[in-house]
Amino acid sequence: MEKMKTALSHCEICPRGCGINRTAGKAGWCHAPLLPKVALVSGHLWEEPPISGTKGSGTIFFSHCNLGCVFCQNHTISQEGFGQEVSILRLAEIFLEQQERGFHNINLVSAVQFIPQVAKALESARAQGLRIPVVYNSNGYESLTGLRMLDGLVDIYLPDFKYWNNDLGVSYSHAPHYRETAAAAILEMRRQVPQDVFDAEGLLQKGLLLRHLILPGQYRDSMRILDWVRASLGEETLVSLMSQYTPLYRAKEIKALSRKLTTFEYEKVIDYFFEIGLKNGFMQKRSSATGEYTPTFDLSGVVAAESFMKREENHHD
Ligand code: SF4
Repeated sequence: MEKMKTALSHCEICPRGCGINRTAGKAGWCHAPLLPKVALVSGHLWEEPPISGTKGSGTIFFSHCNLGCVFCQNHTISQEGFGQEVSILRLAEIFLEQQERGFHNINLVSAVQFIPQVAKALESARAQGLRIPVVYNSNGYESLTGLRMLDGLVDIYLPDFKYWNNDLGVSYSHAPHYRETAAAAILEMRRQVPQDVFDAEGLLQKGLLLRHLILPGQYRDSMRILDWVRASLGEETLVSLMSQYTPLYRAKEIKALSRKLTTFEYEKVIDYFFEIGLKNGFMQKRSSATGEYTPTFDLSGVVAAESFMKREENHHD
């Protein structure tokens, strides 16, 4: 607990390095509060097959974000902050409830701004019998300080590598030095889980699966990211090339982002993937480029059942 409080009293959990005291109620760039804040607990069947399998991935969507993506499909929670604060104990219970629902794994979606609290809740849930793999679904804008708090607690890293050109990171996500930051973060993730391990059903139990959303007009940027993957992580790296870009949120106001990806652009990147010798790719059907897969954030699964609430009253985090 002391470690968590120290980290939050001078918050440098993510690359923004705000240095503010969250234990004193101060908020930094991400506006995240001290307690973990969750917008939705649900099951997700649309992740890559080794993550979703047949029973789904047990997603927990966290509120707030340390990026400000103009095309964010989850902007109501990431940038407008919708969600409910929960205690560390309740968060650990949410993890255990997801396991009881039969999902293949726990899937932490955009939890960077709550890493110390999530680490504490994971330790508690593990001690109470959490056995299924923990997936950490990341935007790639992570610090080594933050990621090291998750060492030994996360089984599967699912990071984005969004941009190679840092100007795109600034223009579209308000994120300086995105390329170097994401590259260092992904190498740290790989250090923590050096091998990809699958079970007999082909479900990922440990490892790293890198995601890249191809943006309209930016297929050459995507190719540079694939070059880095090939050179720095190797030809066997699991890579998901996503074609689902849809001009949502503020993207319609930006000419270059106001259209979907073309088949030509997507195929250019797929062809390049194989051309440079990468082997393990997950490709998306072009029909997935629609906003209808955005979940409805309605706090489902967030609020404690009555029995849990009674236990919380007697517990001091
Ligand atoms: S987690 Fe939030 S408060 Fe902490 S450094 Fe990052 S943006 Fe700033």
